[in-house]
Amino acid sequence: MSIRGFDDALPKYEVDAVIVGAGPGGAAVARQLAAAGWSTLIIEDGTRVSRFRPSWANSVRYHFQEFGTMIAEGSVPFPVMAGKGVGGGSLVNSAICFRTPEDVLHEWADLLQDDRYRPDAIHPIYAEIEERIEVLAVTEDIAGENNMIVARGVKAMGPPLQGGLLNRNTPRCIGCGICNFGCPVGGKASVDMNLIADARRDGCQIQAECRVIDVLVQDGRAVGVIGQLHDPDTRQEHGTVQVRAKVVVLSAGAIGTPRLLHQCGLAKDLGPVGDKLHLHPGSGVLGRCDFDVHMWKGATQGAYAWSPEEPKILPHTFNVPPEAFVSVSGLVGHEAKVALAGINRICGLGVMISDHGTGSVRTSKNGRAKLRYEWAADDVATLKRGMVLSAQILLAGGAREVRATGHGCGWHTTAEALQAEIADLPLSAFILYSAHPMGTNPMGLDPKTSVVNSRGKAHGLDGLYIADAGIFPTSLGVNPQLTTMTLGTMIGRAIAQDEAGPV
Ligand SMILES: Cc1cc2nc3c(=O)[nH]c(=O)nc-3n(C[C@H](O)[C@H](O)[C@H](O)COP(=O)(O)OP(=O)(O)OC[C@H]3O[C@@H](n4cnc5c(N)ncnc54)[C@H](O)[C@@H]3O)c2cc1C
Ligand code: SF4
Repeated sequence: MSIRGFDDALPKYEVDAVIVGAGPGGAAVARQLAAAGWSTLIIEDGTRVSRFRPSWANSVRYHFQEFGTMIAEGSVPFPVMAGKGVGGGSLVNSAICFRTPEDVLHEWADLLQDDRYRPDAIHPIYAEIEERIEVLAVTEDIAGENNMIVARGVKAMGPPLQGGLLNRNTPRCIGCGICNFGCPVGGKASVDMNLIADARRDGCQIQAECRVIDVLVQDGRAVGVIGQLHDPDTRQEHGTVQVRAKVVVLSAGAIGTPRLLHQCGLAKDLGPVGDKLHLHPGSGVLGRCDFDVHMWKGATQGAYAWSPEEPKILPHTFNVPPEAFVSVSGLVGHEAKVALAGINRICGLGVMISDHGTGSVRTSKNGRAKLRYEWAADDVATLKRGMVLSAQILLAGGAREVRATGHGCGWHTTAEALQAEIADLPLSAFILYSAHPMGTNPMGLDPKTSVVNSRGKAHGLDGLYIADAGIFPTSLGVNPQLTTMTLGTMIGRAIAQDEAGPV
């Protein structure tokens, strides 16, 4: 069955489960429920067919939520990105795949009093997903020089530093370096190609170009949703879709789900909806080499570093196309001109941290997400240590000099000089960025401090489940797509088990 768009939508659907959002979480739930024989429907805001082109303007127009303009206000305003389309964030992400660290899994199992989250119990589900989405280590032939500098730097520094080329779900990658625009050659195994394909094979319907604007509640139970159809080219609205379902699963992402729940007025009955936003905020370090790098070539973000001495810091390769380089480098005026002239020789590491800082998601009158985020003081210190570590790695990997991505930062030939420079700089000096919103509807035991239980069911409303990156009980510490798919799989199975009987 083909994916429906705004112009061939059915006005009404009646299914066992409606799933809002076609990202990693929604895809994994749909796959499990369809396999269990449930009639399923995924409703997705984004386009029915992916519109990939190698241009930022095109990507934000079609494949980033709110056109790539979401900003977390609070301590320091900075952008927060989330993907959109049949595949959600997996269409435009860098395809990095990490399992949840074992200490985090034990913390979750303790918090939730649920041993299904212990490493021994959950690792087989990770393995199953990894096999289906074809996770493989990046190979040297497609890595490109930018990733190889990081891999060489990690090797040269030696233990306790670990890392090198990393795992990605890109089995047919040719190393063109534009994963964040969507893969032009089908090299990335985004979830539309596997988890959603499986669900569709088992009968799952998909209604795209439809934004869910309301959750229907009857006799204390979620019984469906209402979606607003729209033309993705003109943004004109085209009527509504009404869905009746036994179970409603919200997988609109860590921003999209609380945005919807606040918009439709349900949030007040469901606990701290949108209150515990974590972001894995980050910044970066650039290196200047005496040889050509072409930082935009090679597997996107294909290498990483990690040290048990700094478990909250996860640097991975920073690569941007030339058109986006100036905006993310922190360079302006003459310095930007000089750097652009020598852009062939620039390499980079992005510094991502596991955050203690928290924030919130609410909805503005116009339906846009309203984000706030307060940095924790220790996170700022962690970020700066991460920048110093990244400078060390780039220098060890072959860069001649390094520079923090911030305003007023200079080039240095030693990591010590960079450290001295950034020590007293305020957070506002750095270019900050997040693509990992999470934790906004956390799992937990107490309805006052959490929104869903460890099986994804809302504490405050029967028939309502959440399965997306919003349900993480704490900041994760690694890139979240694999964990989101794994939790979605567990929740899909739990729903099939728990809601099997008559409603
Ligand atoms: C540029 C970028 C790079 C990244 N790189 C990596 C990486 O390399 N590795 C990694 O692990 N993670 C990465 N991530 C993060 C990862 O993609 C997300 O954590 C993951 O996609 C979250 O899955 P999700 O199902 O929670 O939500 P999403 O993927 O955000 O999917 C939610 C879907 O719901 C839809 N939606 C929202 N609201 C509504 C509504 N009201 N009605 C209908 N549909 C709605 C959205 O359009 C979207 O398609 C990256 C993210 C970005 C943006
Ligand atoms: S780097 Fe690989 S997976 Fe990413 S867009 Fe290019 S070919 Fe596709």
